[in-house]
Amino acid sequence: MSILDHRTLLLSLTTVALVTGLLLLISSRQNRDEPGLVYWGLANLVGAVGLILAGLRDIAHDRLTIDLANALIVAGYALNWAGMRRFCHRPAPVWVIAAPALVWLAFNQWPAFHLNASWRIVGVSLLSAAACFAAAHTLWNLKGERLVSRYPAVVWLILNGTVFLARVPPVLLGEGPDNTGVQASPAFTIILFVGLIHVTLLTFLQISLTKDRAEHRYRQAANTDMLTGAPNRRAFFDAAEPLVAAAARSNRPACAFVVDIDHFKTINDSLGHAAGDAVLVAVAGAIAAQLRPGDVFGRLGGEEFGCLLPDTDLLTATRLAEELRARIAALDLRYEGTVVRISVSIGIAPAEPPTESLDRLLAEADAGLYQAKRAGRDRVVAMDVVLR
Ligand code: GH3
Ligand code: MG
Ligand code: MG
Repeated sequence: MSILDHRTLLLSLTTVALVTGLLLLISSRQNRDEPGLVYWGLANLVGAVGLILAGLRDIAHDRLTIDLANALIVAGYALNWAGMRRFCHRPAPVWVIAAPALVWLAFNQWPAFHLNASWRIVGVSLLSAAACFAAAHTLWNLKGERLVSRYPAVVWLILNGTVFLARVPPVLLGEGPDNTGVQASPAFTIILFVGLIHVTLLTFLQISLTKDRAEHRYRQAANTDMLTGAPNRRAFFDAAEPLVAAAARSNRPACAFVVDIDHFKTINDSLGHAAGDAVLVAVAGAIAAQLRPGDVFGRLGGEEFGCLLPDTDLLTATRLAEELRARIAALDLRYEGTVVRISVSIGIAPAEPPTESLDRLLAEADAGLYQAKRAGRDRVVAMDVVLR
């Protein structure tokens, strides 16, 4: 263990915790909508102060270098947990954050505990492990966001918690150091070394999680139609093209719709653009409600929507389109007291394997739509057949 001198490790760990703490706080100023970063920055700084106090073990009073030092280190782990809670949109009450440090301080008022190095190690290890496991649990349960760094962060938090737990059995079996030899023990050197990796890796993962989330938001914004919240043209093509290709490859049926609102310009002209916007939102909602899991749709532009129905034959697609048309015709939309009647025309096209493409499919559905308009609107046309 001579190459891993505990004083050098303690100094390195303290420096890394201070620097990463400051970096996380600076990062939190640039990402003000990410409250987790402030907690994570404070976690490292509070932990660093605890380590500085622990480093004064031979100089200052035990109450500072043992009680307060470890209370701050434990508080650092609790703040890390709190940051993860805030990152995952969950509350982190102050009393819960403070609880581990207060429990530690309370136990140290009991002389039998305070004077027993083994019990102290068990106490700090259990409290730190609990905070790591709780943070991993919180991150594991985060739903609805695809964050690449989530899995490595969960794995690392569990590993680090396990290292703390692994320290407990040997100490309980009487292999703990005596009261004066804690910092000179090999186990302490290992804990410092793991701590060094922990602070470095966790800070990297915390910054990565924040960046993953920003990227997820940008991607979502780039793929979503701002007015209706529906997928936009790009997102529709991205989702539908592979489905058409897969249908063509496997010789399975698939159908596309193009849905166009009838006389939409008249709604805009008579009731105003805002009323037109409300109609677009209502129609997008009706389409989303009508489609089944696995179907995809998007706003192609203006008052036109595209839908792609994988594993669907023409008969089923026609029935669904007709239900959608009727659902929209029955919408009870009022705008500033005026009832707004909406109807749509729908063109349907079935995929023709093996050389199908989404462009051809939409062009054919568009041709059906054109026929539906010519036949009087408010109707569905599939393969040149005008329904109703
Ligand atoms: P048809 O029955 O033949 O489809 O006629 P239409 O009036 O629905 O079609 P037309 O293409 O003549 O008009 C579409 C209008 O949609 C013109 C455009 O100003 C309007 N529009 C396009 N995007 C939006 C939008 O985001 N909000 C609103 N309110 N209007 C929009
Ligand atoms: Mg129209
Ligand atoms: Mg149109």
